[in-house]
Amino acid sequence: MMVDAVETAPGDAEAMILDSVDRFLERDVKPDVRRLEHDDIYPAEIVEKMKALGLFGAIIPAEYGGLGLSCRTYSRIIERISRVWMSLSGIINSHLIMASAVRRFGTPEQKREFLPRFATGELRGGLALTEPDCGTDLQAVRTTARREGEHYVINGTKTWISNGIEGQCFALLVKTDPQATPRHRGMSLFLAEKGPGFSVSRKLEKLGYKGIDSAELVFQDYRIPAARLIGGVEGRGLQHALGGLELGRINVAARGVGVAQAALDEALAYSQARHTFGKPICEHQAIQIKLADIATRVQASRLLVAEAAAAYDRGERCDMEAGMAKLFATEAAVFCSLESMRIHGGYGYSKEFNVERLYRDAPLLVIGEGTNELQRLIIARQLVERNPA
Ligand SMILES: Cc1cc2nc3c(=O)[nH]c(=O)nc-3n(C[C@H](O)[C@H](O)[C@H](O)COP(=O)(O)OP(=O)(O)OC[C@H]3O[C@@H](n4cnc5c(N)ncnc54)[C@H](O)[C@@H]3O)c2cc1C
Repeated sequence: MMVDAVETAPGDAEAMILDSVDRFLERDVKPDVRRLEHDDIYPAEIVEKMKALGLFGAIIPAEYGGLGLSCRTYSRIIERISRVWMSLSGIINSHLIMASAVRRFGTPEQKREFLPRFATGELRGGLALTEPDCGTDLQAVRTTARREGEHYVINGTKTWISNGIEGQCFALLVKTDPQATPRHRGMSLFLAEKGPGFSVSRKLEKLGYKGIDSAELVFQDYRIPAARLIGGVEGRGLQHALGGLELGRINVAARGVGVAQAALDEALAYSQARHTFGKPICEHQAIQIKLADIATRVQASRLLVAEAAAAYDRGERCDMEAGMAKLFATEAAVFCSLESMRIHGGYGYSKEFNVERLYRDAPLLVIGEGTNELQRLIIARQLVERNPA
């Protein structure tokens, strides 16, 4: 799938942006993470600061009020954020995938109406694809949109929707023709704003990834103007939804790098402070092997993400590169958080150390934006397609 080529921010501009993100994380996020996370509190004040930094418009073009950053710079921002608190990256990411669908496939009117409001963060939201009975097999969605004059009437349920409670607008995948074959020809993507007929039925409780709201959304005779059909033509919804997932996968991979790097940071600090048998544990070979394995995976993950982001910015097809980065970096996050926990001994199991949060956050990454099983299938199919016998 081709993506629009994006200008890479010149080195100086990128350095300035990354520097301001670092200062924000140090000053406004780090001191409060443990409290907000353990109590599962939506970080409303932090979100206001993210709005002021322009992060909700990170990859929205400047002509619509966004920062117009390249995927490379954006993924480096996401890595930094996830190194401090992964949940914050989810608040921006699914919002930006929705924005990216409008930027790439929306009508000129949809771009003019929505992108500036998305860029400021005044109108925030995400992606509503998954249903109680299907996630990987998106062509099985049951939510329907029936045309009635200049409106569609939508009925169905979406689940696991990030930003579902705090967000106001969602890219909503539905069937406009449930009988179509192949099934994707009957699928369409709408920009659905909350209103009569669109309700949140419940907040979902999770192992980790706390602070950000995950919710079930119910559509009951929800009337939406036909002008909210992305691109204005029925039958392209799956293509529009999956088009955004390359960016989403690079983002999730970048989160993996951030979590794995945080696990390394914690392990390095702890292993130098903790002594057993008369020396710091970092001087025991068993610990050194773990540190080396963690650090090597962090670095390899970072390079895979950079390569996938560069391909995305060049406008190249990069589902295989994004899939490889997502697969490797997210498995690295799971591996590194557990190894770091082992290095911490009993304290790794304590809520007073950060590593227990990393250990709870990391597994989500192997599931979201296409499970790692699915990534392997995508990679293998692309290998064969790009190397015909
Ligand atoms: C915290 C959280 C946040 C989320 N946020 C969002 C969101 O904002 N928006 C949204 O739409 N969704 C969201 N999701 C849903 C997520 O994208 C899905 O959970 C994911 O796509 C997997 O779908 P599923 O849970 O239905 O699993 P299933 O599709 O039922 O898969 C179950 C298992 O079978 C495997 N499997 C399925 N098909 C195949 C196959 N063909 N070959 C091999 N193995 C296969 C899977 O890899 C998995 O191991 C979120 C989920 C979580 C947990």
